[in-house]
Amino acid sequence: MPKYVYDFIEGDRSRADLLGGKGANLAEMTRLGLPVPPGFTVTTDACRAYLATGAPPAGLYEEVNAHLREVEARLDRWLGDPRDPLLLAVRSGGRYSMPGMMETILDIGLNDATVAGLAARTGEERFAWDSYRRLIQMFGRTVHGIPAEEFEHELAAVRATAGPGGPSAEQLRDLVDTYKKIFARHVGHDFPQAPHEQLFLAVRAVFSSWHSERARVYRRQERIPDDLGTAVNVMAMVFGNLGPDSGTGVAFTRDPATGAPGVYGDYLTDAQGEDVVAGIRNTVPLTELARLDPVSFHRLREIMATLERHYRDLCDVEFTIERGRLWMLQTRVGKRTPAAAFVIAAQLAEEGLITADEALTRVTGAQLAQLAFPAFDPTGAPEPLAVGVGASPGAAVGRVVFDSAAAAAATGPVILVRPETTPDDLPGMIAAAGVLTSRGGKTSHAAVVARGMGRTCVCGADALRIDVERGEFRVGDRVVPAGELISIDGTSGRIWLGEVPVQPSPVARYLAGELRPESDPLVAAVHRLLTHADAVRTLGVRANADTPEDARRARRLGAAGIGLCRTEHMFLGERRELVERLILADDPAELRAALDALLPLQRADFVGLLAAMDGLPVTVRLLDPPLHEFLPPLAELTARVARAQARGEDPGRDATLLAAVRRMHETNPMLGLRGVRLGLVVPGLFAMQVRALAEAAAQRLRAGGDPRPEIMVPLVGDVRELAAVRDEARRVLAELDGAPEIPIGTMVETPRAALTAGEIAGEASFFSFGTNDLTQTTWAFSRDDVEGSFFPAYLARGIFGVSPFESVDTAGVGRLVRLAVAEGRAARPELTVGVCGEHGGDPDSIAFFAAAGLDYVSCSPYRVPVARLAAGRAAV
Ligand code: PEP
Ligand code: MG
Repeated sequence: MPKYVYDFIEGDRSRADLLGGKGANLAEMTRLGLPVPPGFTVTTDACRAYLATGAPPAGLYEEVNAHLREVEARLDRWLGDPRDPLLLAVRSGGRYSMPGMMETILDIGLNDATVAGLAARTGEERFAWDSYRRLIQMFGRTVHGIPAEEFEHELAAVRATAGPGGPSAEQLRDLVDTYKKIFARHVGHDFPQAPHEQLFLAVRAVFSSWHSERARVYRRQERIPDDLGTAVNVMAMVFGNLGPDSGTGVAFTRDPATGAPGVYGDYLTDAQGEDVVAGIRNTVPLTELARLDPVSFHRLREIMATLERHYRDLCDVEFTIERGRLWMLQTRVGKRTPAAAFVIAAQLAEEGLITADEALTRVTGAQLAQLAFPAFDPTGAPEPLAVGVGASPGAAVGRVVFDSAAAAAATGPVILVRPETTPDDLPGMIAAAGVLTSRGGKTSHAAVVARGMGRTCVCGADALRIDVERGEFRVGDRVVPAGELISIDGTSGRIWLGEVPVQPSPVARYLAGELRPESDPLVAAVHRLLTHADAVRTLGVRANADTPEDARRARRLGAAGIGLCRTEHMFLGERRELVERLILADDPAELRAALDALLPLQRADFVGLLAAMDGLPVTVRLLDPPLHEFLPPLAELTARVARAQARGEDPGRDATLLAAVRRMHETNPMLGLRGVRLGLVVPGLFAMQVRALAEAAAQRLRAGGDPRPEIMVPLVGDVRELAAVRDEARRVLAELDGAPEIPIGTMVETPRAALTAGEIAGEASFFSFGTNDLTQTTWAFSRDDVEGSFFPAYLARGIFGVSPFESVDTAGVGRLVRLAVAEGRAARPELTVGVCGEHGGDPDSIAFFAAAGLDYVSCSPYRVPVARLAAGRAAV
């Protein structure tokens, strides 16, 4: 017969799966000899059995009774004894803490007879009746779903008529009568007088509360599995509401907000734990307890020191003092802010309580990312106007503009507001403090580009009706014209009208080299942990960067080279005209002329990039996007031509462009003429880029530099595509003097490339996984469309816990990665393998890439410190 009940002296903290977090830690404190009221835990197994069948498993109540008798014997007090009753607290406690989501019932065992015994033992009649009314209320609400307001309403009425000392014993006794009537009216029978029946019903109610709506919602949010069930902790009651020498409180072994050492917490005299939560009276700082009850305070500090040494981490506790005697009701490793996580981990390592490796496991890349962004001061922020997807973190305040021209012309900070962005909006995005769109999700153009630039971005705010022509957007009835001040939070996705105050980030200033590590405790902690991560990690970290400025920034942030330079970003702005010439070229001579005009510009770009990354690898990807992206959109051109014709004017060049756009139109451009395919059908295009890079490298060499260029071919699916480009590149390189050796490798971003990696490695010096396209093509999900369309439904239904564009899908895409690494290295053992999709900056994905044996990850410059930390964590 399975064992369903464990006395606190039987369990320990390693059994949290079975006993829940609270039960396991109560057992651990009991084993440590700390003052925990006697009790026992009904296991999560029992809960799961109950939830599966709707009935408690056979023998459960007998087992509970047997354990109850042990508790009774230890205390020499019996449940239901009318002279001096034992009372019980029944509390939920799952594997993972779900604060306030499930149920607690206190004072089990009170009835019309025992209430007198309680009054007699304590000498407090008012207290006894107050406890009884608390029981009926909690029991009625939890077991039978009676709305709390029904009871609260009556309680408020009694309080209103009571004297300054609160309701009298008589008033409370009458209130119990009223409560019993409310109970009977709702439930159809009287409040149960049998204490054991109360106990069993309470245990069942706690089991059932696992499936309450709020608990389900919380689990979905926190990604806690739905099938774990909760344990139930049954504990002898101790009372914090027995007068001025009693009370209850919560405490932390360090400050959970900042990590500063010292005991922190709140205390409430003459109260039970639920009063603290309900906020009926104001708590006092824990330091007050030192004055009120120095003996208990001292003992509490000793216990907390014991707990912190034992758990080797920040602990929080709930405690009660009953007439000067301290009782521990709960402990756990406490939740903390990202700042406190860093400070505490570094301090504990310094104190020798944990190793430096362990300290790394106590912080996450996501926490570091949060710390590095300026944040809105959460106090006093007004109601948001709307909420979108937090796509690129940060806090931006600026005046609304609707296009790049206005952004560039503005004198102060602006927020670029667009339905969605295209490469055309790049200048506006660069000029703006933040970007706000009404369409698209975390992998939309706006999101990817903004993250790359470290620009705050909120996208997919679909409550916004944006009218670019009129220069305004609407949210409901509210009209927001250009020029109005708004604030956007790239972490939470919130959008406010007006200016919300922003706090600068000392961590960002340190990472940028503007603050010394010792300047404050948080910065010192970040420095210490990052330094250790760098020392232990095996995974290299490069950056995705296209400009010398980004490259320099990436280098300052610790990047060891560029893993992806997207050359298309060098074809925008005033060069667009040259690209148009290239696209519109009718004959080889015109094509040649267009390429010749682009060559020196590309060369100058590469010189800058190689100089900024002198001595480090710079992986230059040959042109990737469909060429029509460099032409004006079809709708805009059509309108322009139509307007010209309506005015009787000659549309001129616009007509030619329109014809080209129509000719080049593709239904699925992401699966169309792009990547290596472009190189194979537009003669001379890739050759021009290769030449520009080689000449730039030669120039850097002549100038005494140490250029390390690499050439990368995008979207390869077949080894022959790569071989053709490689042959062409080698021909170009062979004609040039003075350039260094330039390795030629490929992106692996189509399933076919991964599946034929062994063959492809025969022609490639390196692989770099383009996990954006690889995710798109493996799942057949359009990366530009999904987030605003069916992803929310998929996330809500649990088909994914997180978007596969954000965290790599290890089972599918990850399997292709592993296969390609294995077959690629089998064919070419010296093959270097990296990743340059967005996943290269995602901590969970980085752990996977480290395990898959990659040599490096490449991510946007601002993510570099996060990637360094995540790579360090992956190594310990
Ligand atoms: C990728 O596909 O993962 C990649 C890095 O290339 P891009 O995002 O430019 O398509
Ligand atoms: Mg790609």
